[in-house]
Amino acid sequence: MGEVAMENWSGQQKWRFQRNEVQSTSSAVTIRMVRTMLMGNLRKDDPRTIIPFAHGDPSSFPSFRTAAVAEDAIVDTLCSGKFNSYATTSFGIPPARRAIAESLSKDLPYTLSPDDVFLTVGCTQAIEVIISVLAGRPGANVLLPRPGYPYYETCASFSKLKVRHFDLLPDKGWEVDLAGVEKLADENTMAMVIINPGNPCGNVFSYEHLKQVAETAKKLGIMVIADEVYAHLAFGNTPFTPMGVFGSIAPVLTLGSISKRWIVPGWRLGWLVTTDPNGILKKSGVVESIKEFLTVASDPATFIQGAIPRMLENSTDDFFSRIIGLLKHTADMCYDRFEQIPCITCSSKPEGSMFVMVKLNLSMLDGIEDDLDFSLKLAKEESVIVLPGIAVGMKNWLRVTFAIEPASLVDGMERIKAFCERHAKKQ
Ligand SMILES: *Cc1c(COP(=O)(O)O)cnc(C)c1O
Repeated sequence: MGEVAMENWSGQQKWRFQRNEVQSTSSAVTIRMVRTMLMGNLRKDDPRTIIPFAHGDPSSFPSFRTAAVAEDAIVDTLCSGKFNSYATTSFGIPPARRAIAESLSKDLPYTLSPDDVFLTVGCTQAIEVIISVLAGRPGANVLLPRPGYPYYETCASFSKLKVRHFDLLPDKGWEVDLAGVEKLADENTMAMVIINPGNPCGNVFSYEHLKQVAETAKKLGIMVIADEVYAHLAFGNTPFTPMGVFGSIAPVLTLGSISKRWIVPGWRLGWLVTTDPNGILKKSGVVESIKEFLTVASDPATFIQGAIPRMLENSTDDFFSRIIGLLKHTADMCYDRFEQIPCITCSSKPEGSMFVMVKLNLSMLDGIEDDLDFSLKLAKEESVIVLPGIAVGMKNWLRVTFAIEPASLVDGMERIKAFCERHAKKQ
């Protein structure tokens, strides 16, 4: 005791805590960090509005306003006065778990039980939960897609879970390089992550491809973590198939939320669901670990949980079809306009989610070093924010969201075209 105080007085105090050393600095890059950097590069004197192509949150645009039934469900639940307490369990209140189990079971060849469903603070916390659980085993690694969603890397590096990347193949509509997955895996591999519909690629995996994913996972003895936060947001030729359909081939953990389908990311309600009819996740102890983690983690707000049954039951097809129609429209507009810009290639037309990946042909541009340089200069000269590919693991590509107000999209694409023409290499 005395010693500590002495050291303090003489300025010799040694503090024992230090930063959490992340595995590598690049893996700690988050989309939010890159966006903040681009926003810092905007010119203050440009009178034009900023076009936010980097941000997958259309909730502030009038066309993307959530369903009235969803808002009513929240208001009525709140005003009932019955949901002001702490939630009775840390896994989610039973009516909400039951409603999600029933809703997801509609698309599966078997029935989920409410006990298969764990409520989380958005899909974000579902990612945190599973990454932390997997990291509990020393030396464990997880296979992540490249390009991907960088929050997985950030979480893994804080939890000291090792990551290995498999490729998504642009020439094959962004399918998983399954041969690459087999080469990457070893006896310490616990899981592979797929994101379907895809962020950042806007692809939707076919039934056949998902079956092959399940068979590969079975061969390797690993689970599939299926991030289906964009579930049902599919508007191309490939219908959305939930990975859980193949849960009897390999165990599946399905992650989801209301954030994207209902366009309410601020409501912070998501789930982690074991779609595993053979009960392998339970036998392996993974379910027990998930419960332990959730027992000490914070819960989604009780009144949001309370509104879930009504939200899921009352949301009708006309809301969903309107949003899907709007996404299809903006995706097509975005794709068609990129087709007219020679220095940018769009390898495949987006069929789902809210994003498309496009490739920069730097040899056609003058004075642009790479994707980050492109994004920084575009922000400064045109007040348009696009995400450089490095933020999602793919250098010299860009991730563009088409989930914005159609008029802004047209304006933004005009500005990108003007920027590219101004910087085109003279023949
Ligand atoms: C948006 C997103 C999440 C996070 O979802 P929230 O429910 O807002 O926490 C997770 N995964 C992917 C791929 C996303 O795009």
